[in-house]
Amino acid sequence: MGEQKVSVVTGAAGFIGSHLCDYLLTKGHRVIGLDNLNTGTLRNLEHIDSGDFVYRNVDITEFIEIPGRVDYVYHLASPASPIDYLQIPLHTLKVGAVGTRNAIGLAKWKRARFLITSTSEVYGDPEVHPQTEDYWGNVNPIGPRSVYDEAKRYAETTTMAYHRQQGVDTRIVRLFNTYGPRMRPYDGRAVPTFIRQALEDKHLTVFGDGSQTRSFCYVSDLVEGIYRVMECHYHSPINLGNPSEYTIKQLAELIIRITASKSEIIYQALPTDDPKRRRPDISRAKELTGWEPGVAVEDGLQRTIEWFSEYFREEGTF
Ligand code: UDP
Repeated sequence: MGEQKVSVVTGAAGFIGSHLCDYLLTKGHRVIGLDNLNTGTLRNLEHIDSGDFVYRNVDITEFIEIPGRVDYVYHLASPASPIDYLQIPLHTLKVGAVGTRNAIGLAKWKRARFLITSTSEVYGDPEVHPQTEDYWGNVNPIGPRSVYDEAKRYAETTTMAYHRQQGVDTRIVRLFNTYGPRMRPYDGRAVPTFIRQALEDKHLTVFGDGSQTRSFCYVSDLVEGIYRVMECHYHSPINLGNPSEYTIKQLAELIIRITASKSEIIYQALPTDDPKRRRPDISRAKELTGWEPGVAVEDGLQRTIEWFSEYFREEGTF
């Protein structure tokens, strides 16, 4: 047996970050989870009772100091929901720019492998469908979403520059819409919002006419994909997501059906720069790592709905 691997995860108390910590622990890693709890919560980590896990309250926009050996840096930290980055636009920019520089600086110093979770938002409102990694995107640089989109684009640029100029062993994954347990019920995203509304028998708020599409990946599939990309040897961006594409109206109808809710759909204004279509081309991930998602959207939604029902019961919401 080799030495135990040490992974640092930034954004460890977030939705995807906490699932990634769980996964790395099952792989036998020692995991150092960093978060400043800006949008994450310790509730996502409190189930972990492994001596191999350490949590540290760290704001990665400050210099990051980690004692000892580090083999991998998984850099996830960032506000990721439109509501969040509209409320804290400057911080979103800063974590994408300064935070990424610090996270990659840590990897460089430790001679660790570095992976950044970028986003399908780098494609903006795409003119190419489905989106391949070669497509450069259609982003409004001054729109309300731009603080996230451009920060992630800049973070990708930073990552490639450190790779090219300084030889840091980097990976870039572009995450498409992901859902599952531990999403925040009020983070404004379609899946948790619709589930909450359906469980409360409230109207489901579909923005626009609901014809815009998204492709939804269950979190366990996604985390497996992230891990596999870290293990492969490829430095250009790799899309990770589930290619099964739904209109937002179909998503709302599906959630109403699974929850057997009495809710109806109401239509509200479409947010500025809301992308019209989004579906990943995942050929590159498949070719390089053999990865593809295995959880059907109905099954993943079912599990997520069960988790939210339990969450609301514990909270005493209803
Ligand atoms: N959406 C909606 N109602 C909501 C929340 C979101 O119709 O209550 C729409 C939103 O306008 C977008 C899609 O659902 O077209 C996915 O939104 P989300 O915030 O989940 O992800 P993103 O826009 O970042 O892909």
